[in-house]
Amino acid sequence: MSAVLPVPRVRGQGIVLAHYPVPIAVSKGSLVPLSLLAAVFALFTSGAPTLLVLGAAALGGLGGAASLIVHELGHVGAARRLMGVKPVRLSLLWFGAGTRFEGAYRSGRDQATVAIAGPAASLALAVLLVASALLPIPRPLALGLFGLAVLNGAIAFVSLLPVQPLDGHNLLVGLLWRIAGSEPQAQTSLRRAGKALLGLEAVGCAALMIEKPLSGSCVLAVVAALYLQKQLWAWPARSASASSATHRRS
Ligand SMILES: [Zn+2]
Repeated sequence: MSAVLPVPRVRGQGIVLAHYPVPIAVSKGSLVPLSLLAAVFALFTSGAPTLLVLGAAALGGLGGAASLIVHELGHVGAARRLMGVKPVRLSLLWFGAGTRFEGAYRSGRDQATVAIAGPAASLALAVLLVASALLPIPRPLALGLFGLAVLNGAIAFVSLLPVQPLDGHNLLVGLLWRIAGSEPQAQTSLRRAGKALLGLEAVGCAALMIEKPLSGSCVLAVVAALYLQKQLWAWPARSASASSATHRRS
């Protein structure tokens, strides 16, 4: 069943492209990462005929959007099989993509299942793309598909980092919840471990800044970006009963 509308219509946070299995919206902000991906793919073909460069850019932009949507649909599919939590909207945003959920997880196992489903979908797509790239198809297309496979592998890897609000963090909370017996206990243990880890990272970062200022600055920039993303990650509406299951990010 498909509910793709013949004409996209604007609603709330962007243009709604499809309504099934949840509304899939593209915000203006998503032009930033998608243009960046288009530029990166075009860069790899610099020097080639214009048509090929344009094709590569289109593959990067559209393929990037499709990759992010597939990742989020992994979360959506897993959540739809569970009781208690309901996916309500998938959005492409300026920092990637996210799915809004309502309700709350009933167990750590449920939370871990939904968290791992996104990276699993990205990895599955990466494998499929590599297999397609190995088929007897024109070399530029094969290289493009391989590039998209690398992108999907990268999406899976980055999303599994144990940093809030990434999937790795949600997976860890789910697993700890199973061990600790309750979600608040899991959150507390993770916060304690996070503080200890932050202390270690600060010492490591300081040492790196002295030894190799350039690498140290890069690490610091990544940490700052992750922190900023955590602060900026907020949906306008947040139901009171949905604290544990409202947010997810690619
Ligand atoms: Zn995800």
